[in-house]
Amino acid sequence: MSDPVKENWELIIIGGGPAGLAAGLYATRSGMKTLLVEGASTGGQAVKTDRIENYPGHPDPISGPELMERLKKQSEGFGLKIMEFNKVVSVQSDDGFRVNLENGNTFRTGSLIVSTGSEYRELEVPGAQELKGRGISYCATCDGPFFRDKPVLVVGGGNAAIEEAIYLTRFASTVYIAHRRDRLRADKVLQDHAFKEKKIKMLWNSVVSEILGSGKVEGVVLEDVNTKERSEIEVSGVFVYIGTVPNTGFLKGIVELDEKGYIITDLQMATSRPGIFAAGDCRHKKLRQIVTAVGEGATAAMMAYDYLQRIKGTQYI
Ligand code: NAP
Repeated sequence: MSDPVKENWELIIIGGGPAGLAAGLYATRSGMKTLLVEGASTGGQAVKTDRIENYPGHPDPISGPELMERLKKQSEGFGLKIMEFNKVVSVQSDDGFRVNLENGNTFRTGSLIVSTGSEYRELEVPGAQELKGRGISYCATCDGPFFRDKPVLVVGGGNAAIEEAIYLTRFASTVYIAHRRDRLRADKVLQDHAFKEKKIKMLWNSVVSEILGSGKVEGVVLEDVNTKERSEIEVSGVFVYIGTVPNTGFLKGIVELDEKGYIITDLQMATSRPGIFAAGDCRHKKLRQIVTAVGEGATAAMMAYDYLQRIKGTQYI
């Protein structure tokens, strides 16, 4: 690849999860000179999922890593340039956009798609920081096998918590799920599956108030949200799935964000700043799925194409 810093790109996509890779596919198929910049490796949160059974066209479940690898290969096949392990720290707007990287490099582009997704919200209780990576995990697919025949706790009641709790039953002796209410938020199909699993034990109306252990997780203190009664359980691992926070800090003051930091767009994925589009989990929206992310990526790419046609000749592209 020629030096991407010296190029004038028509489109830069920031973030290489399903939304960004799909945007790259549509953009390059339309002939746009497109660079995808990713802070880590491509695939996004989908690569942390062992079994995807709701992506259309796959009657048999497919693993997240396999689906993302196929999408990456498909996009690269149409000419998408991908730079992994390049973190974007800011975006500036002039007669186009400048995308500044942590390593000091700057890329110039006529349009931008932000598809930076979100990351798991961390548990903020005593012990959580000290024991992170020592029994506290945010990725069951990565760390589950370390807990063979040991009891673990999953915190949360959404799709991620229940899906990962089911996965953990392959390894752990018991999978406790601590949820702060008396009913789950997760999709019914996941709930039905979880309730049938003998190894899963629900701890309703419970929040974690402390994680115990010296050097590694040995247990947790739970608090009943109604009675405030505290109890201890012995576990070797704590898997935290209490929602997500968007990776949009670098966009403050550039595009309009909601109160939680999600990017506000219209139905065409256009943000408050002409030329910048957003797709996937970093958007303000209701449904966060791979299928919605790829659809939004495709829309954002085609709207970026339209935008460039309209402003042709007015920028450095
Ligand atoms: P989520 O849907 O926002 O669920 C977060 C869960 O954590 C909720 O049950 C919430 O309780 C609980 N929670 C939040 N803050 C808490 C705190 N401080 N202490 C204890 N519990 C807390 O998040 P997610 O499960 O990470 O999923 C994120 C998005 O990805 C969602 O849109 C989800 O549908 C999607 N996703 C989909 C799939 C799938 O379709 N298979 C898989 C994974 C993720 P309350 O219920 O009381 O609010």
